[in-house]
Amino acid sequence: MNIVLFGAPGAGKGTQSTLLVERLGMVQISTGDLFRAAIKNKTELGQKAQSFMDKGELVPDSIVIGMVDEVLAKLENKSFILDGFPRTSAQAEALGKILSQRALEIGKAVFLEVPREELLGRLTGRRVCKSCGAVYHVQSKPTKVAGVCDVCGGEVIQRNDDKEDVIATRLKTYEENTLPLRTYFKELNKYVEVNGAQDTETVFSNIKRVIS
Ligand code: ADP
Ligand code: ADP
Ligand code: ZN
Repeated sequence: MNIVLFGAPGAGKGTQSTLLVERLGMVQISTGDLFRAAIKNKTELGQKAQSFMDKGELVPDSIVIGMVDEVLAKLENKSFILDGFPRTSAQAEALGKILSQRALEIGKAVFLEVPREELLGRLTGRRVCKSCGAVYHVQSKPTKVAGVCDVCGGEVIQRNDDKEDVIATRLKTYEENTLPLRTYFKELNKYVEVNGAQDTETVFSNIKRVIS
């Protein structure tokens, strides 16, 4: 089954996607990761996206939609997770069209619910590997050696947009643009909710249950 995984910044979308990929063989399509890779590779797409990301604003719909369309065109016959897309109603509408053109379907839109106080702690404490993108947390998931990625030995850093002032903008952007998509997916009868404020393994079993 193909799914949309949505929720606030810091809700655990990336963490859960990694488990879905490792354990269920799904393919993760993370628009945030794709933009970060484009920035790292200094592509035109990366240049367009960076200023918006650094401010905690959404990258314009046309850019994001074009990028997702390209990725879905190259997709092999594996179940995929849309992680962090759609984030606006225009993106949701565009996704509907792209999917029907390619005879693809989303089975469920899984909403990871996490209270705001918990989100702040998760975002300020998040650290990521510069090389492989592995995600850590200073308290709940520290690296074995400080500043060094357990997976690849790369340098572990704080994302620019995980600084406190940018976090505030991201949460506001999320509340205004993405949270209303709950109604959109409810109307399509695809909406399911998972309590994301539990330990990672419990959240994972609950996601597995609602998508099976
Ligand atoms: P998102 O992709 O939704 O922004 P992440 O998966 O990157 O979220 O998680 C944000 C931060 O919270 C990371 O530092 C991650 O290690 C931590 N985290 C993720 N899931 C949990 C959980 N269930 N309990 C505690 N911390 C978590
Ligand atoms: P998080 O879920 O932790 O907020 P992401 O890695 O998903 O972080 O996104 C980082 C940034 O990339 C966003 O703040 C935004 O600027 C941009 N971005 C990612 N996905 C989208 C999207 N679907 N639409 C617009 N901008 C996006
Ligand atoms: Zn790494």
